[in-house]
Amino acid sequence: MTSEDLFKKITAHCKEYGFIFPSSEIYDGLGAVYDYGQTGVELKNNIKKYWWDAMVLLNDNVTGIDSAIFMHPSVWKASGHVDAFNDPLIDNRDSKKRYRADVLIEEHIRKTEDRIDREVEKAAKRFGDSFDEALFRATNGRVVEYQRAAETVRNRMNDALKSENLEELRQIIIDCEIACPVSGSRNWTEVRRFNLMFATEMGSAADSTLRVYLRPETAQGIFVNYLNVQKTGRMKIPFGIAQIGKAFRNEIVARQFIFRMREFEQMEMQFFVPPGTELEWYEKWKDIRIKWHKALGLGDRKYRFHRHEKLAHYANAASDIEFEFPFGFKELEGIHSRTDFDLSQHQKYSGKKIQYFDPERNESYTPFVIETSIGLDRMFLSIVSAAYAEEKIDREDGAADERVVMRIPPALAPVKLAVLPLVKKDGLPEKATAIKNRLKFEFNCQYDEKDSIGKRYRRQDAIGTPYCVTVDHQTLEDDTVTIRHRDTMEQERAPISRLSEIVSEKTSMKSLLEKNG
Ligand code: ATP
Repeated sequence: MTSEDLFKKITAHCKEYGFIFPSSEIYDGLGAVYDYGQTGVELKNNIKKYWWDAMVLLNDNVTGIDSAIFMHPSVWKASGHVDAFNDPLIDNRDSKKRYRADVLIEEHIRKTEDRIDREVEKAAKRFGDSFDEALFRATNGRVVEYQRAAETVRNRMNDALKSENLEELRQIIIDCEIACPVSGSRNWTEVRRFNLMFATEMGSAADSTLRVYLRPETAQGIFVNYLNVQKTGRMKIPFGIAQIGKAFRNEIVARQFIFRMREFEQMEMQFFVPPGTELEWYEKWKDIRIKWHKALGLGDRKYRFHRHEKLAHYANAASDIEFEFPFGFKELEGIHSRTDFDLSQHQKYSGKKIQYFDPERNESYTPFVIETSIGLDRMFLSIVSAAYAEEKIDREDGAADERVVMRIPPALAPVKLAVLPLVKKDGLPEKATAIKNRLKFEFNCQYDEKDSIGKRYRRQDAIGTPYCVTVDHQTLEDDTVTIRHRDTMEQERAPISRLSEIVSEKTSMKSLLEKNG
């Protein structure tokens, strides 16, 4: 199966099993806006809880807030978003399609790099065990040429972005002979800047309305509350403020399902530290965050760090945690050392002193900031894409069968336990309902009596339920049930009195948080 097919299947599965629906679907949807369904909302809430608890419960010096989406317009002047939060766009005159110039160039670079990978693959097959990949990459004429070409284009693009040279961006597109994927032509307009913030008006009287923005990131809500939290929480530096909330960006290249949306959710934490210690804290937070990801058990090789060569004007170090999505390694989380830029800007624009008196240093300063910022929806996508598996199985009657199983980390699974009466009679439904009603205070449980037991198992596999409990006639005699494990499909007999213990051992948030230790 190609990665494109796999991605299509995951998208279709998410819809079929109530994880994600296109927004306003009966009106044919709204570009890059999605709704979470009955299964998806449970997974999303569990991811939020995992992040929140790992930040706020596990760290004595991290506390949380929930700030409003609307903020005073000066916030976005101070943060630089009004003037600089924009993408370089280019239109194709024939197809009338609009693209991000940097994305067109990056795709061109990626194609060149794909060619390198294909050369390496071919050579690996040819040379077998004696193949030395590093040597081949360094010496093969064609590969070296491709590498040089990719690097030259990347350097030109980075320089053009850094110096805001829009003409040069266009020139790179021309020089690389990049064609519009839709019309196939190279009939390009100039490159222009396009601000990504959504604006709206607050107030009803025409002369007193205020132009406000839907926040494009949650971080500014933390910065403008820094003094409030520090003072009322009597926080001592170093300390952090965490927040989960919606953000909005009028993305032009809005595709790849929930990877890039116009309305999405972020989980951000700003950690305030004394100047001069920021790079040490930056490394610490990189370690903490990668451990948080790896604890999920989706496979350590699916994560890698990507260090930014081109830093934003306010940062003195930045890395992304990239995840291997079905369409390749892409940014999942950003960890940035943002210096004192944001607090200094808010001090300047608000005229309020935003400083901290450090009793140990016996001096006042503007704290420096380390930010960890992860997209909740991208995190969701990373989990469902790693969890999705199609498997061939042998049925009890010997026939071959298939199942789709979502190997969602048990602590994040939307439903932890399904309680299934073997048949819909003889008092089994009543017994199963009683078990469910006892356990529903501890876990998200589902009761299902419709269709054959095999079909019910498949439905639970498809939403990633770690345990199915079957109530049969023996249950009525000795209060034992069959527990089926999602991943191995093994079944065991256990007393009802032990269910709570068995299920919570693997599915509790505690078991996952302890791995962050
Ligand atoms: P990208 O380069 O992919 O546009 P970014 O560098 O602009 O992302 P940040 O501003 O650092 O992203 O935002 C932090 C996190 O928020 C990202 O790592 C990503 O997980 C998430 N995120 C950003 N934009 C979107 C979006 N349009 N849809 C979904 N998640 C997003």
